[in-house]
Amino acid sequence: MEKIISLTKRRGFIYPGSEIYGGLAGAWDYGPLGILLKNNIKNYWWNRFVLKRDDIYGIDAAILMNAKVWEASGHASGFSDSLVECKKCHHRFRSDHIKDKCPDCGGNLTEEKQFNMMFKTIIGPVEETGAQIYLRPETAQGIFVNFKNIIDTFHPKLPFGVAQIGKAFRNEITPKDFVFRVREFEQMEIEYFIKPPKKNEWEKDFDYWLKQIHEFLEEIGLNKKNIYDREVLGKDLSHYSKKTIDIDYNFPFKKDEIVGFAYRTDFDLKAHGLDYYDEETKERFIPHVIEPSFGVDRLIFALLCEVFEEDEMGGEKRIFLKFKPNMAPIKVAVFPLLKNKPDLVKKSREVYEMIKKEIQPVMFDDNGNIGKRYRRQDEIGTPYCVTIDFETLDNNTVTIRDRDTGQQERVKILELTNFLKNAILE
Ligand SMILES: [Zn+2]
Repeated sequence: MEKIISLTKRRGFIYPGSEIYGGLAGAWDYGPLGILLKNNIKNYWWNRFVLKRDDIYGIDAAILMNAKVWEASGHASGFSDSLVECKKCHHRFRSDHIKDKCPDCGGNLTEEKQFNMMFKTIIGPVEETGAQIYLRPETAQGIFVNFKNIIDTFHPKLPFGVAQIGKAFRNEITPKDFVFRVREFEQMEIEYFIKPPKKNEWEKDFDYWLKQIHEFLEEIGLNKKNIYDREVLGKDLSHYSKKTIDIDYNFPFKKDEIVGFAYRTDFDLKAHGLDYYDEETKERFIPHVIEPSFGVDRLIFALLCEVFEEDEMGGEKRIFLKFKPNMAPIKVAVFPLLKNKPDLVKKSREVYEMIKKEIQPVMFDDNGNIGKRYRRQDEIGTPYCVTIDFETLDNNTVTIRDRDTGQQERVKILELTNFLKNAILE
């Protein structure tokens, strides 16, 4: 895991937050390659679950919300007791219910404190009653409070969903494990509304969405042998949920949750006093909801663990990130064989501009020797490197090097863009 964290910093994926001031626990900054990777995941998700479907509406609700939202949802009172947290399993306990060790795992406990996981802030210039609001601890409530707006503007028939990608904030007592347990993070959530089910009718929707989640995880490049469904049972199951499955990834530190998946019944809409009028049956009722909730930062971490590879090439050890082309931050790199030959550099620039018209992002690199440039691209997971050499000037062909095998192939410049498009947009 240390190797992965050090690579992400060295190559501009993820930096510790506020680093020059000693950092800030639980906050991380995404660098130029990190934001490319993050956007690949978010865009793929948005395309798959919103744009390519006709039953899911996308929104982007404000992070700052009326404090009454959190009273209705139960968040305001939910954590307001005096709490201690287990340093090992992170279970929280009311301090008056507990002795000096965690009853679940025997771990040590934090000091007791009045604790609400929500970050408080003050709205407006004066600190007065009613001015206190919270940074949202989840994006889901932004969806629920817009339920009526979506109904009034689009008149959707059930079942339908509302999706949102956005930041959420939780004042974790003990942030840890890189970007796994953090205080500021990003979620991709869908609330999928269904008719109040008779008996177990909700199970088919639940099974359908569980399958959708698994397909998505494999499509972005996570290996299914590292993904586990863990049903949340007994006292760990939230009071509003009939069934919850945490989808865990096999991280180097332990198996832990990357997607939360819950059948939340009608709890949320009921809490906000919202309902639905069925035009056909002339009935008014409260829809139930199924919620797949993806952690963006955790998916990025899982993906980095999944694609991190070490091998030996040409007698040298190397690290490479075996991203699927759809997730690779840089799709193609273009090099002149030598940087001090103006003809090669000029031709390389032309090839670079040509590819860039149809494939993004492409990187131009003429720094250091060619072997070093290949290694750099391997470390950021660029699937293909194109090199312009002296033969190019003779016959208009270039070499294409494959990241995983290191093998090179000569291709005509005329056919180059199509070749790359076929390889990358598989
Ligand atoms: Zn514990």
